[in-house]
Amino acid sequence: MSKFDKDTGRDEFFVQRDKEVNSLVDPATSKVRADLVEKVDCPLCGQNDFTVLFSKHGFDFGRCRHCTLVYVNPRLQEEALIKHYNDKDTFNDLAIQFMDSPKQREVNEALYDTFFAKLGRPARGAKFLDVGCSAGFLLNYARNKGYDVYGLELNEQACELAEKNYGIKPQKKLLENCDYPDNSFDVISMIGVVEHLPHPLDTLKIVHRLLQPGGVFIGQVPNVQSLVVMVLHQLSRTFTGRDHLVYYSQKTLHDLFKRVGFSTVETFTQFHGRDSILNYFQLLDPFGAENYDFLPQAFKNWILDPENFKKIENKMHELGLGLKMEFITRK
Ligand SMILES: [Zn+2]
Repeated sequence: MSKFDKDTGRDEFFVQRDKEVNSLVDPATSKVRADLVEKVDCPLCGQNDFTVLFSKHGFDFGRCRHCTLVYVNPRLQEEALIKHYNDKDTFNDLAIQFMDSPKQREVNEALYDTFFAKLGRPARGAKFLDVGCSAGFLLNYARNKGYDVYGLELNEQACELAEKNYGIKPQKKLLENCDYPDNSFDVISMIGVVEHLPHPLDTLKIVHRLLQPGGVFIGQVPNVQSLVVMVLHQLSRTFTGRDHLVYYSQKTLHDLFKRVGFSTVETFTQFHGRDSILNYFQLLDPFGAENYDFLPQAFKNWILDPENFKKIENKMHELGLGLKMEFITRK
């Protein structure tokens, strides 16, 4: 296990997640059971023109020949998805534990600092809605910055923790089922949520409607054109057909926001994933413990020199090759 995974408790989360995903597979076909899935058209452009790229854990991942969106098809039916997010015994509880680890908080806060620096100071009474707010970390941060905060979260344990730790009471609802008035929020956020949405256009149209004119929508998705994905392909952990239904590139994410009607879109990347790539270079498990023993000596000296690596990292982010893609878009 990598040190980051151990420090945050992600290691247990991934073991549990793989077990659950494998339990959906029909051993006769090596595919997810036919009674659980449905075929879908491209969630971005609506066409049915799809090249399968690879299969993993019984799911097929493919790319739309029309708009280049990468997505899972067929995918779990919506009832199964919603049941999964509501299920008290699923991986979500472990996910919440790792989100709550000190190491993970440190990483999150670095990201929040970047977002809030770009947002500037809120006006008095500015309203902030976090969709999929987990145990309320971001909302607590936003409240400390001066926002009135609102959260939506389906997982029971996360809602309880938000209340216990921060006195924040998320609504246990989907955005689609909320009755907030139009133009009511200054900022809406979805950190690690857009890739889970079965109907991203419909859901983001609601986000757009709930934002005030000039309001801002921020968030983070996995980057399907990250260096990690380009090197590891289907080994990348982001490819989980049960949870992540859609995989955005800079192009397809911009397309999505333009189709919804947002006026400006900015994307950037902040994390690199170097060590899983270096492990893979050495024929090791990319997500095993960091190991540099089998790298050519000169290469090892060069890439582990912090000054050199800083240059590589800066170039990666300049080229948009980071592990995750952050976005800031305005109504
Ligand atoms: Zn398409």
